[in-house]
Amino acid sequence: MIADDFEYDHRFAPPSEENLIKLELSRQEAAGLTRREIKCPVCSYRIMSAYTTEGCVKVKCRRCKFEGIISLRWFRRQKSLFRNRW
Ligand SMILES: [Zn+2]
Repeated sequence: MIADDFEYDHRFAPPSEENLIKLELSRQEAAGLTRREIKCPVCSYRIMSAYTTEGCVKVKCRRCKFEGIISLRWFRRQKSLFRNRW
């Protein structure tokens, strides 16, 4: 894997050899999985892409500055979980 396979600000030095290996392993792991977009709970700005439905991540929205923990289990769908409740 070469450092041109992903995007970053090239004013920074490329990732270390160890991190390049981790990146490549991550990419291979994600290859067979479905990608879905995680949107900000406040402004719906796309804050990240997830390939699993498990785990918690701390996110920061670049648009509205929301910062908080999101469980990928509960944010698996963009449609409201409570839509058909009543
Ligand atoms: Zn936001």
